Order: sequence, then C-alpha cells, then structure tokens
Amino acid sequence: MSELLARHRAVMPNWLALNYTEPIEIVSGKGNRVVDADGKSYLDFFAGILTNMIGYDVPEVREAVERQLATGVVHTSTVYLLRGQIELAEKIARLSGIPDAKVFFTNSGTEANETALLLATYARKSDQVLAMRQSYHGRSFGAISVTSNRSWKNNSLSPLNAHFLHGADRHLAQFRGLSDAEYIKVCVDDLRHVLATTVAGDVAALIAEPIQGVGGFTMAPDGLFAAYKEVLDEQGILFISDEVQTGWGRTGSAFFGIQNHGVTPDMMTFAKGLGNGFAVGGVVARGDLMDALPAVGLATFGGNPISMAAANATLDYVLDHDLQANAARTGALIMDGLREAAQRLRIVKDVRGKGLMFAVELETPAQAARFMEESKRAGLLAGKGGLYGTAIRMAPPLTLTMDEAAEGLGIIVHALEVIDAEAG
Ligand code: PLP
Repeated sequence: MSELLARHRAVMPNWLALNYTEPIEIVSGKGNRVVDADGKSYLDFFAGILTNMIGYDVPEVREAVERQLATGVVHTSTVYLLRGQIELAEKIARLSGIPDAKVFFTNSGTEANETALLLATYARKSDQVLAMRQSYHGRSFGAISVTSNRSWKNNSLSPLNAHFLHGADRHLAQFRGLSDAEYIKVCVDDLRHVLATTVAGDVAALIAEPIQGVGGFTMAPDGLFAAYKEVLDEQGILFISDEVQTGWGRTGSAFFGIQNHGVTPDMMTFAKGLGNGFAVGGVVARGDLMDALPAVGLATFGGNPISMAAANATLDYVLDHDLQANAARTGALIMDGLREAAQRLRIVKDVRGKGLMFAVELETPAQAARFMEESKRAGLLAGKGGLYGTAIRMAPPLTLTMDEAAEGLGIIVHALEVIDAEAG
C-alpha cells in the first residue's frame, strides 16, 4: 500500500469510494489527459467523474478564474449582486426551455436535488414522491429518500415517502423481448397502478435521471418520459429531471438528457461538469415554483464569483465549439466499435449509451475489476459500477478528438479481448 493510501485510510471514511486496487494520485492534467504522481499519463475516459467536462487546463477557464481572483474578491456571499451569477442564470434559463425559468445555485448535485425536492413538496404540500428504480440522487436525507440503488442507499430514515417506478430496468427477465412501445405501456400502466393503489394522497413530484449514472448508464427508451408526463400532468404532479450527469450536450442528441424524450420538465437539477472542476450546482425551475417558498433563504457559497467565472467560461466554450455535435460524432465512433467488438467477445453482455456517455456490461464483477486494472495499465481511466458491479462506465470530456476516441476505443477493445481470452 502506498504511503498516501495508508494516510487516506487512517483519516478518511471507509465508505469513500476509491478506484483501482492501487489508487492513483493525479498531479496534473492537460487537454483530455492526466498524469499521476509516478509520471504515467492517462486518457481520462471518465472526465474526473464527469466533472472535467471540457478537459484539463483550459486557458479560457483558467483566465476567467484568474481575472476574478485578480479583483481581490473571492466571495462576499450572495447578499450582494453578483454579475457572473446573473449572467449564468440568464444563459441556463434560456437553454432549459422551461417557461419563465429561474435559477438557484448550489455547490453540489445533492444540494441541487434537495432544493428541487423542497420546492416540489412545498408547492404540492405533500411528502409523497415518485422516483425510479436503481436511481441515485445524492447522499443527504431528501436525496437519499428518492435513491433506490441499494449500494448507494444508507438508511431508511428518509423524510420523504418515495414510490419507485419501472423505466430503466429492461434487463429484467419479465421485460426482455418487449419492443420499446410495449415496455413503455407496461411502465405507464404500472405508474397508474402505483398512483391508484400505493400513494397516500396527492403526489408532489417524479424525480428521474434521463440516463441513470451510478445505476450503470441504464436508459429509459426514448419516449418513456413523455408518456409518464401525460399521466403526471393529468394529476398535477411535477416532473424534476436530474441532469447532473446528462446535461450540457453530453448525450449528443440533445442539450439536456430529458429533451431526448421530447419533454419539458418543471425543474432540472445540474452540477458536475458545469464548473469544469469548480463546485457549481443548481436548480432551474418554473418561476412560479421557484418563487413560492415563503421563508427567506440563501446559499452562502452557492453561486460564488470564482465558480461562476469558471462555469460561464465552460458553458460558453461548450456552445462556441458545439461540443454537443462533437459528443455525437466521437460517441458514434466509439459505440460502433464497441458494438462490433461485442459480437465476438462472449464476456460482453451489453453495450449501451448516448453520445459521450456509454457503458459495457460484463458477466461478473471480477471481470469488471480486471478491466479497470488492464485499461489503467494501458493508459485509460474509466468508471466501474452499475447495479451488479458488472458495468464499465465511460464519459470522457466533451472535447474528445476523433483521434483520442479511436485511441481510447483501441485500449478498451484490447482490454476486453484480454479478459475474454482469460475467461476461456
Ligand atoms: N444526481 C446524480 C444523477 C448524480 O450522478 C450525482 C453524483 O454522482 C448526484 C446527483 C449527487 O451529486 P454530488 O455528488 O455533486 O452531490
């Protein structure tokens, strides 16, 4: 065990996730690559953890932050007018497509979801919420209430009364072989059944990830959420789309993941990539819902000038360089290659994803762990997880070049071949 790992184990919680049997210390980064303390370079196919959305050491982001630092004002709290915050809110409100949208900034995705749940439960005067099976929305009390992914769910002392829906579980035996339309019908019938038989009184909201992140990049078929939304609208139930992983063009086919379903939600939550490493999260919601809370509030650090400088520069970069189109292009190259390889590799059970968010499902957790080590050895960082510990998750920076996509694909396929051969 390295000296730093021993010190980590001594003072950090046991449950704090670390990748790799010998976790690395990343000491520098440039473009879409990082370097560890031993000087080894890696293509980062997980973008930190979807945090370095436009790569490392981006001059536009660094200069924006340095300009803010040079003013001498790191942060004074949100009780004064903050120009960067207002500018970013204007951009997000416009991009969201939500009518009369307003934005509240937080420091994390957990806090963003907490805020959305507060707004929804207050607006509907109900503690009843709907969420999806296999979901993850954060580690605070409200967010954990609507989390159903068992390996990320810590307790049952949850303040909200959550009911979990089908929608991203087509891998289950009873749904295999169904067409998209048939599966969507089963899910909608189930939603109606839950509403008719299971909930206590009115329901405040449905919260859902358009593609489930820690759930292993499992996906609802396009159109499912539009079908859900019809039922929700009939019953006055709000819809919160958790875009913490799926926002800002990552899926290639839409700017926010939920737009792949042709749905305008009542609220969206975001975090991770927006600050390109600086802590920024938030909620964008219909103005009437956002304004409805009766008590005054603030987030001392939410929307601070440094994070706002980073986030404005990052979002401008995404838009100016049309990184959504880049995600579609590079993602298609990788998906085609993975699908082709899957046909000849017995250990690969599934390949799925959209744009630059894709996963490979292997047979056993041991194979997934082996993949992590083998790809790391060859110079590529990925994420592991999923419901059964058998999924390899990858979400490179949206700035990935076609050459890097091909290089990464080569490493992934080679690592899979090695493990397939070992499996005999
Ligand atoms: N929502 C989703 C979909 C996530 O993937 C995460 C984190 O992985 C969160 C919320 C929580 O965000 P944070 O870790 O910034 O609190």
